Amino acid sequence: TTHLVWFRNDLRVNDNLALAAACRDPGARVIGIFIATPLQWRKHEMSPRQAEFIWQHLQSLHAALAERGIELFVRQADGFDDCVGFLQNFCETQKVDALFYNYQYELNERQRDAAVEKVLSPGVVCQGFDDSVLLPPGSVTTGNHEMYKVFTPFSRAFIKRLNEGLPECVSAPQVRKTTMPEPQKLTVFDYPCQPIDPNLFPCGEKQAINQLRLFCRQSVVDYAQQRDFPAIDGTSRLSAYLAVGVLSPRQCLHRLLKEHPQALEGGGGAVWLNELIWREFYRHLLVAYPKLCRHQPFISWTDNVTWRQDDAQFVVWQQGRTGFPIVDAAMRQLSSTGWMHNRLRMVVASFLVKDLLVDWRQGERYFMSQLIDGDLAANNGGWQWAASTGTDAAPYFRIFNPTTQGERFDGKGEFIRQWLPELSRVPDKHIHTPWVWAEKQSLTLDYPRPIVDHKQARITTLAAYEAARKS
Ligand code: FAD
Repeated sequence: TTHLVWFRNDLRVNDNLALAAACRDPGARVIGIFIATPLQWRKHEMSPRQAEFIWQHLQSLHAALAERGIELFVRQADGFDDCVGFLQNFCETQKVDALFYNYQYELNERQRDAAVEKVLSPGVVCQGFDDSVLLPPGSVTTGNHEMYKVFTPFSRAFIKRLNEGLPECVSAPQVRKTTMPEPQKLTVFDYPCQPIDPNLFPCGEKQAINQLRLFCRQSVVDYAQQRDFPAIDGTSRLSAYLAVGVLSPRQCLHRLLKEHPQALEGGGGAVWLNELIWREFYRHLLVAYPKLCRHQPFISWTDNVTWRQDDAQFVVWQQGRTGFPIVDAAMRQLSSTGWMHNRLRMVVASFLVKDLLVDWRQGERYFMSQLIDGDLAANNGGWQWAASTGTDAAPYFRIFNPTTQGERFDGKGEFIRQWLPELSRVPDKHIHTPWVWAEKQSLTLDYPRPIVDHKQARITTLAAYEAARKS
């Protein structure tokens, strides 16, 4: 018999539920396939850095599978629709008896998988697995069997479920007895790729596991105190690995509990666990509310907000030239590295939506096009939170002040100086309002003046949200 593993966002050999299930029968010939879909990736605005990250990990997965006697085919179709016929042909040619895959929870992906199962069965037995989550969507619900709309009770129920029984990790497959042909060189897919800094995002499952170990051993206890300060390397920086599935959330949970067994009871590491649960919350929401995948806000009336269509200001925000140092430093971190600190994601998202009154969907799209860790659930969740259009959103009248956010979380401007060398001469205490200082000194700066007056912008935004709510 031949078992086919269809790899998607699960580019690893350790703790991969579909791969482990496919390998359970020692006599089966096991092969793998990854189908690149450039047309779909373009529609989903996948960033060229994420494409590069996927490409690098396909090569290491190819090698890791080959060592275990499993051949990985990397092929290309245009869109998700094309995957269906492609897989059908592939299964016929390779005489596949059973298909194993890990679920993806986004709407297009789910529709594709349903179409694949329809054309393949009953000839090919298809099995899907809830692999990219700790607990399957739909399994953590209110007393009325509904999805929670607010994070805190979800998180409480989630931890209760974990205390009843932890999802176990599965081992990487053993070397198979069946022979496989000499591995072929992979042909790169037809999608723009952009180099990644290997110091920030080293390639490989081993590297990701080491990073997780080190973080849980050395940094996770200080996470609660440090995670909001972008000048400190206080977070795990594992998001890119989790997004493409080089690492699983179960591996994160077990490693955390190994170092900090009390994390589930609120002990050391509990705050980091809470972030992993945010990741789950947004994934569970996608399944309960497919409209979130259709560019719709969770709170319907917010669709009536009259957004400003100001392309020039949008570009200035993208380029990090708004005149608000913390916003600009963050946007330059994003375009230079493909990653941005969580506190800053909140600050720049709030700035775009609440100071510039630009539609949050424009920001969401731009983030996807830049982020190495781009993930529909987390990104949409984060943007809808910042725009106050989502489930567990900040109330719309709560608006971040970008200057005070900078003062609170980058007091001396250490992070700002890393990304805005043009402000190097500005003294620490004026770093968040450099023009006020420069004018007093009769100096000019090679740095833009603020593009909006925050107080005025706040009033305008409140009025726009009020009007939408009443309409
Ligand atoms: P850590 O702080 O070490 O957290 C551990 C892991 O938990 C992360 O790797 C991530 O997988 C998960 N996580 C942490 N915070 C969140 C959160 N708020 N929501 C969901 N999952 C979380 N995260 C993405 O993975 N992809 C995105 O596209 C994305 N877009 C975002 C957009 C906005 C506007 C906002 C406010 C947040 C977004 N986040 C996104 C969430 C968060 O900013 C990143 O996960 C985090 O900064 C990644 O850094 P880290 O790995 O060091 O995280």
